[in-house]
Amino acid sequence: MRKTGPDLQKAVPAIQRCRACRGQGFTKGVFFELDCAACDGTGWLGMDGMPVEPAALIRALGRRVTEAEQRLVNQVKASVWIEENNRRGPGGSHFTGD
Ligand SMILES: [Zn+2]
Repeated sequence: MRKTGPDLQKAVPAIQRCRACRGQGFTKGVFFELDCAACDGTGWLGMDGMPVEPAALIRALGRRVTEAEQRLVNQVKASVWIEENNRRGPGGSHFTGD
């Protein structure tokens, strides 16, 4: 499923959820919710543990969304296939001949 084109890899950094705020981008203070200092309030960090610049982060998130959508589509396809197979299963092949 890899696209050809040399710029895909360098444009999209590897990212991880910020552990300090559990990916929410803010931490709960006593009275206020504060922007998470570890990730600059984005909820995401590069694999080196440093905040990612916004443009690169957007590309990285976009790729994650695309992958997640693809996974969903595949799951739906798979469940439809299983459903159809089950329908054809018990009773479906039952043949009352003579
Ligand atoms: Zn954070």
